[in-house]
Amino acid sequence: MFKEIKEIRETKEKQTPLIIYGAGIVGQTMLSICQQEGVEIECFLDGSEKVAGTKIDGLEVVGPWDLKSKYPNALFLISVAAIKDVIDKLQELGYPNWIAGGTLLKGLDTSQPDPYLNHDRFAVENCILCHEGFINPTKLFIRSVDLIITERCSLKCKDCSNLMQYYEKPQNCDTEMLLRSIDTFCAVVDDIMDFRVIGGDAFMNKEWPAVVNRLTSEPKVRRVVLYTNGTIVPKEKDIETLKNEKVLIIITDYGTLSRKLVNLRHLLENSGISYHILKIVEWLDCSAISPHRRTQEELKELFKICCAKNMATLSDGKLFRCPYSANATRLKAVPNYEGDHIDLFKEPLDETTKSRVKDYILNKEYLDTCDFCDSRPLSGNEVQPAIQIKKPLPYRKFNK
Ligand code: SF4
Ligand code: SF4
Repeated sequence: MFKEIKEIRETKEKQTPLIIYGAGIVGQTMLSICQQEGVEIECFLDGSEKVAGTKIDGLEVVGPWDLKSKYPNALFLISVAAIKDVIDKLQELGYPNWIAGGTLLKGLDTSQPDPYLNHDRFAVENCILCHEGFINPTKLFIRSVDLIITERCSLKCKDCSNLMQYYEKPQNCDTEMLLRSIDTFCAVVDDIMDFRVIGGDAFMNKEWPAVVNRLTSEPKVRRVVLYTNGTIVPKEKDIETLKNEKVLIIITDYGTLSRKLVNLRHLLENSGISYHILKIVEWLDCSAISPHRRTQEELKELFKICCAKNMATLSDGKLFRCPYSANATRLKAVPNYEGDHIDLFKEPLDETTKSRVKDYILNKEYLDTCDFCDSRPLSGNEVQPAIQIKKPLPYRKFNK
């Protein structure tokens, strides 16, 4: 069933021990497969301070800070979808040997629930496609892309990481432009795991069904995720659009602020629409906009530790690395940094653009916009979520 296991066994014989990089659900699935196939795993490696030092399925989770003293040599089975970041990290730590774990997962039948292997279908598919896309130079696989469909939100959170608190006259995006953005993007990529429809609040733009219908009918899009804050219940006539197996609604639960959460949940449940409720307890402090005059080396460091740098974002046909840079550009809160994005409306829809996008997604080392940003390191300062403000926050505007 797992033909790649032979290769892993042979490679391991030359380089023991074998460590699974990433102790999340996909890493645990890889552990199950290896145990089933008699391949010994030494431990997990995971950079999360919450997980490192614990045990999962009886196996120790080692943090990168303890790795060299415990295992001066090791081979890594990578379970993290962002494989390029992991390989860079391993190289930094002095470990050149790794295996793309997604190749191992190809033997799983993800369409069926498996009582033995504890796996999550989307997470597994995501890992397989990310690793295949990385290994195959002709393929362009996008793990997730955010599509900004509106600047409007029913809440005005002081510390919104998507910078909604700065918009003075927030607008919905033009529907024709949005559909063209989707067409253009899909013309240059091979596969997209998650197309995330965002704002503001996605439901604030009444044209959202046109966008969702286009995305669900696109064979290259695996899943369509809508983000909402539990204040809006979609109209009855639009519900059919959401009754699609590709659709997932993520509702952020802000307590009493999410005043329609109960109604929304009932509606989704009664209609058989997939949803997930995220209870937010803390936010990273990452919404300030001001220039720091950092050196190039400092910008690279900041970018490296930023957990938002792989949140590809489409804004008015332009592809950005993160929602911060997309919104800072929309707001004209940063100078016109043309190298920070790719304007897909100005590019030919051919292999050159595909290579450019791949290079941008995999190899960009920092954005000029990072100079205005406090970055989003996992260990950054926290702020109380969803503090409401009455008026938009002031900021310095650049002429463009
Ligand atoms: S609800 Fe979400 S999108 Fe809206 S302002 Fe708050 S954090 Fe930003
Ligand atoms: S540090 Fe750079 S990549 Fe990260 S959120 Fe800020 S602008 Fe985006």
